Amino acid sequence: MGIFSKIKAALSKTKDAISFKLNKLFKGSVLDDDFYDELEMILLSSDIGATVTEQLLKDLKKAIDKKHIRKPEDVKEELRILMQATLDAHPLPRPPMPLIMLVVGVNGVGKTTAIGKLANRLSKANRRVTIAAADTFRAAAADQLTIWADRAGARIIKHAEGADPAAVVYDAIASFKAQKTDVLLIDTAGRLHNKKNLMEELKKITRIIEREAGDIAVVNFLVLDATTGQNAISQVEVFNEAIDIDGIILTKLDGTAKGGVVLGIVGELEVPVVYVGVGEGIEDLEIFKSNEFVEAIIS
Ligand code: GDP
Repeated sequence: MGIFSKIKAALSKTKDAISFKLNKLFKGSVLDDDFYDELEMILLSSDIGATVTEQLLKDLKKAIDKKHIRKPEDVKEELRILMQATLDAHPLPRPPMPLIMLVVGVNGVGKTTAIGKLANRLSKANRRVTIAAADTFRAAAADQLTIWADRAGARIIKHAEGADPAAVVYDAIASFKAQKTDVLLIDTAGRLHNKKNLMEELKKITRIIEREAGDIAVVNFLVLDATTGQNAISQVEVFNEAIDIDGIILTKLDGTAKGGVVLGIVGELEVPVVYVGVGEGIEDLEIFKSNEFVEAIIS
């Protein structure tokens, strides 16, 4: 399967949930209040969220007025343009190498899998990858990560269960510098039920990174699970208290109808979705492309 069709295939349920309803609406004959009410209902029901729905409707009405659009079918192209602009408004500049990627997220969202897939992607692009197993709370976390590292051909730095995560990060950065590898991927714990401790731990890790990284670029990724829809948005807000999130890795886009949440995340929180998980396999991580997303939703 080609790259394009992988994302397209992953979005098939989202497409079924939104595209069909929109097309039905665009087949109507008048642009009246009922049209806008129905459009609002469709957008709200597709996990885009209230804030972005409201903004899209406002901008859409403005564009319709300005361009003297009279027919519902012509609204389709305007909506497509506005969705695309929303998604493209906050791009992540391509970071230089060497690079440290700090990866955070709640347990179960697919963080370990995402790190494994990322390591694999980078290795395949001839980048040398080091992984830091800084979720020392669960022994299984480092074990699972070791399996992914082996499969991806990456080095892994780990300590014993219960060790100080910041110490793992310290050692990993030293090793990363000494070995001159290209990318350091740092896994972290995700026990959100112990939110205060978790945030303190993340702050400590970012302090170590800041101190030890020197002029090496650092990108902070938050991993979110697309199947949780609007809940994913509240997780961004929680993690933003502790660290600056530069980009989102949105997992499990396959098999969910809630893919509309991409628009909610980018539009409401002004942070780009950079990678998307499209399956459980090591190859199932794609760079998010806004045009493919919009084409799937409005077709
Ligand atoms: P963690 O607790 O955040 O590290 O989560 P894991 O990486 O262990 O993943 C939790 C579950 O989600 C596993 O069963 C993964 O196979 C599954 N998973 C992760 N990413 C994806 C994805 O993109 N698509 C699908 N379908 N499943 C995924």
